[in-house]
Amino acid sequence: MTPELVEMLSSVVAPGHVLADADLKASYETDWTGRFKGSASAVLRPGDAQQVAEVLRVCNEAAVAVVAQGGNTGLVGGSIPRDSAVLLSLRRLDQLEAVDEISGQVTVGAGLTLARLQDHVRASGFDFGVDIAARDSATIGGMIATNAGGTRVLRYGHMRAQVVGIEAVLADGSLISRMSGLLKDNSGYDLAGLLVGSEGTLGVVTAARLRLVPLLTKRVTALLGLDDLGAALSVVARLRSELASLDSVEVFFEPGLELVREHMRLPAPFREPHGCYLLVECASRRNPLEELGSALSAAEEVQDSAVATDGPDRERLWAYREHHTAAINAAGVPHKLDISLPVERMTSFAERVEAEVTKTIPGSRVILFGHAADGNLHVNVLGPEADDERVADAVFRLVAEHDGSISAEHGIGVAKAPWLSLTRSEADIAAMRAIKRALDPKGILNPGVIFPTAPAVASQPGEASS
Ligand SMILES: Cc1cc2nc3c(=O)[nH]c(=O)nc-3n(C[C@H](O)[C@H](O)[C@H](O)COP(=O)(O)OP(=O)(O)OC[C@H]3O[C@@H](n4cnc5c(N)ncnc54)[C@H](O)[C@@H]3O)c2cc1C
Repeated sequence: MTPELVEMLSSVVAPGHVLADADLKASYETDWTGRFKGSASAVLRPGDAQQVAEVLRVCNEAAVAVVAQGGNTGLVGGSIPRDSAVLLSLRRLDQLEAVDEISGQVTVGAGLTLARLQDHVRASGFDFGVDIAARDSATIGGMIATNAGGTRVLRYGHMRAQVVGIEAVLADGSLISRMSGLLKDNSGYDLAGLLVGSEGTLGVVTAARLRLVPLLTKRVTALLGLDDLGAALSVVARLRSELASLDSVEVFFEPGLELVREHMRLPAPFREPHGCYLLVECASRRNPLEELGSALSAAEEVQDSAVATDGPDRERLWAYREHHTAAINAAGVPHKLDISLPVERMTSFAERVEAEVTKTIPGSRVILFGHAADGNLHVNVLGPEADDERVADAVFRLVAEHDGSISAEHGIGVAKAPWLSLTRSEADIAAMRAIKRALDPKGILNPGVIFPTAPAVASQPGEASS
């Protein structure tokens, strides 16, 4: 970037919010896992949507790439600047309006963290339908850009289902705003919907209007020990059909539990280890303990169970699941492959994935966990070098064989771009590219994210890599 351009951008966001010093930029240039590293020509920290618009206008004119970043908790490398792009940090856009109790909606800035949103709306008797363990850092803009899922998708849907309106800046600096909170508004294309899950490639989200859900204060959490994933999935089917209060059904296995216990110094949850664990939570206005107890007592597959109703005990059970990501990261730089499968094919996939990975890269450690009711498994692989793509190739081909998707909730980012054609057809990709070209003709927004620039490792002859 030329000194003139730096000066121009400094005059837009104020010099104190342009970081050019290597030490100051460092935390923006490496992702949460430590696997993706890049370099930004500058980090810009705009204070409002108008500044974002002016930055994009200037960068678009100069054809300079811009990478949007919120909390930098993304797990597919999409928030990391590449090839000296400008890093646009949205964290200062953290405004919070009063909850609109009549519509059950709230308007917030894109840089607001999920935890601050939760505190704010809970004080008004509402809750937010999406929850993820990265809540203290992940921002609403980043969660919209990745269409984040988390632990309550089975009840409330993912981020797309919570977004009523979006304010965003397009590549040329124009501002689009659909923030009136109308639930019914079929006037033309759903641009807000298009931006959800677009991973910073179509526009920069500056604010959002979000739908809220009732605050359910009576919660019961159960940790179940089962023989295997097959047994766990039959329990999931029973709970899904019997419990109106079902909020979360999370799954993990002994290798992940061992890592979490070691990392957090936690005792074993049960006297004997089990092949598979389910963490179940029910929430309601009335205590759901009896409802859950009666559904579980009829589930013969359950070998062991621990149930908690008060806050600290419930947190103790959740810790076994929620600390998986951190415990895996503490054990090495992981390959994180978040995938989804038809629920009935999860068992077959889980039975084969470790063998496929260790056949490809002997000595790798495979740790699975995920959101059982959504068919969403996080395949974590420790051992291979950070840039060894053979592991992703082996896992994604197995996913495709099982009619699954190579991204359930983390997005494609740069990590999965070479394999997009395993999940999307040539016609799909052509349509997506046409949208990208129309909204960002110079390709300045997050280049290299979603769309592949190089073929996947070990592409089969005749297979499109687009
Ligand atoms: C411990 C842990 C647990 C997690 N659990 C879950 C989980 O259960 N479910 C889940 O879905 N994810 C989970 N994640 C992944 C991550 O938290 C989500 O992807 C989250 O949505 C990212 O938000 P962020 O603000 O950190 O975005 P970033 O990491 O900063 O960015 C992510 C992507 O969004 C783009 N972006 C960011 N802000 C904007 C904006 N304002 N406008 C346009 N584009 C933007 C970036 O360019 C990038 O492509 C977890 C991560 C961690 C570390």
